[in-house]
Amino acid sequence: MSAEQLKFAEQELETLRQQGLYRKLRILGGAQGPRAVIDGREVVNLSSNNYLGLATHPKLIKAAVEATEKYGAGSGAVRTIIGTMDLHMELEERLAKFKHTEAVLVFQSGFTTNSGVIPVVIGEGDVVISDELNHASIIDGVRLTKAARKVYPHVDMNGLEMRLKEANQEGYRRKLVVTDGVFSMDGDICPLPDIVELAEKYGAITMIDDAHASGVLGRNGRGTVDHYNLHGRVDIQVGTLSKAIGVLGGYVATSKALVDLLIHKGRPFLFSTSHPPGVTAANLAAIDILENEPELIERLWENTKYFKSGLNHLGLNTGKSQTPITPVIAGEGAKAMKLSDRLFEERVFAQGIGYPTVANDKSRVRTIVTATHTKEDLDFALAAFEKVGRELELIK
Ligand SMILES: *Cc1c(COP(=O)(O)O)cnc(C)c1O
Repeated sequence: MSAEQLKFAEQELETLRQQGLYRKLRILGGAQGPRAVIDGREVVNLSSNNYLGLATHPKLIKAAVEATEKYGAGSGAVRTIIGTMDLHMELEERLAKFKHTEAVLVFQSGFTTNSGVIPVVIGEGDVVISDELNHASIIDGVRLTKAARKVYPHVDMNGLEMRLKEANQEGYRRKLVVTDGVFSMDGDICPLPDIVELAEKYGAITMIDDAHASGVLGRNGRGTVDHYNLHGRVDIQVGTLSKAIGVLGGYVATSKALVDLLIHKGRPFLFSTSHPPGVTAANLAAIDILENEPELIERLWENTKYFKSGLNHLGLNTGKSQTPITPVIAGEGAKAMKLSDRLFEERVFAQGIGYPTVANDKSRVRTIVTATHTKEDLDFALAAFEKVGRELELIK
């Protein structure tokens, strides 16, 4: 190792520090719960994606332990060699039934699902039309292709139609319209009925990334397509098993033929080892819970309404959130970080998010309540928001 050759790392870090973008990892000393020990301090945790509390659900833990004892700790190969266990097939069949699609293929994560699927769907001579706030994994998936790119202003349907028209005039082979279902920074839901209508009018393929909608929106958490009752009209649905489902993984729900093609050409599927059996068994247990215990999702939404109306009642700006993702907008960059730091001192953890993830004047702390927060947890957090909000003059 030569210190000289790696000096660039120090220099780039220095730049990040000067821009106020340097970050230290927060360390969780125990399980991902509604109350958690973060950096040694017990806090109300408003920053996980563990919407339903399934990450620590006894049925998932039991399933993981039993499968680990029966099948081992690891799968030992990529899916296409000898890393496909009967458990992996069972999960895909269950998910396809759950999503009402012909077939499902599971990838190692939501991220690898997007980066694996997009380059199989589009390539040279094609065009992708993407919402400007789409997730990084969609952007990276697109970067792996030679397709032309068009980006439309966030949820702007005139903007989308303009680009579809342009695309038709420019004469591409295939057109792909891709959107997040629930946007991760603002918690708003994409206007899927309008997107579908425009895509049908202009003959485009539709793809939705439902990472923050899986287990949250629609009947039993079936996602945005179910929420809007658009079954059969969205070509490609991506979901994650790493957020509300509580474990790890991503999947694509689509036609049998596209799944078969992905088995031959989806590069993370071909070249990266499949999930350990414990992961797959826990994912299966989570689907059982979604199907049989919908009251968990009801509780998530009750908590969401309670907390959001509490924040609004205090006079805090929660933007245009329609889901459990609720930002509290603080204004220019430093203020959100200050808000997050002061909340942490008051034993509430809500991550501060600033430029370049969001516009500098829209910096915020992002909160996500879960089904497992008690009223006491939420009242405790609201009291902290009130105290700190007054201090920072976010509340008049
Ligand atoms: C979190 C997220 C992903 C990545 O999912 P993982 O399973 O954590 O890799 C993909 N897309 C969106 C929109 C996300 O929010």
